Amino acid sequence: MDRNKDGTFKKGGTYTMSDSHKNKIREKLKGNTHGFKKGHKTGLGRKLSEETKCKMSNSHKGMFLNEKSHNWKGDEVSYRSLHYWVRNHKEKKEICEECKINKATEIANISGEYKRDVDDFKWLCRKCHYLLDIKSYEKDEFGRFTKKGN
Ligand SMILES: [Zn+2]
Repeated sequence: MDRNKDGTFKKGGTYTMSDSHKNKIREKLKGNTHGFKKGHKTGLGRKLSEETKCKMSNSHKGMFLNEKSHNWKGDEVSYRSLHYWVRNHKEKKEICEECKINKATEIANISGEYKRDVDDFKWLCRKCHYLLDIKSYEKDEFGRFTKKGN
C-alpha cells in the first residue's frame, strides 16, 4: 500500500509479489469473521515444532544415556562371542565331564571369569551344570554366572 508511494513495490519482483499476495490474504481475512487467524496459526505451528524439537533432543539425550548405562550390552556380546569361541575351540565332549554319565549338552564356565581359555570351560550335562551353578555361582540378571561373594 504505502510501498506504492515510496517505490519499493516495483523493486524485486518476487518479494513484492508475495507481499501483495500477503496483503490480499490479509484483506480477505479482515472480512472473514469465521476464518482462522493467520498469526495465531503460524504461532501455534512454531510452538509445536519447537516442542517436537525439544522432545526429539530429549529422546536423543535419553538414548545416549541408555547407551551409557547399558554398557553390559558390550559384555553380552563378548560373552556370546566367547561362548562361540569356546564351542569352536573346545573339543566337544559327548559325556558330561563331571558325572561322566549323562550326555554333555552345555558348556559351563569353571572360574566364573570367562577366560578365553578352553580349560576354563567344561562340557556338562544339564544336571551338573545346574549343580555347579548353585554350588559356586549365581546367575546375574542376564543369566551369566557370577561367583558368589564377589
Ligand atoms: Zn553331569
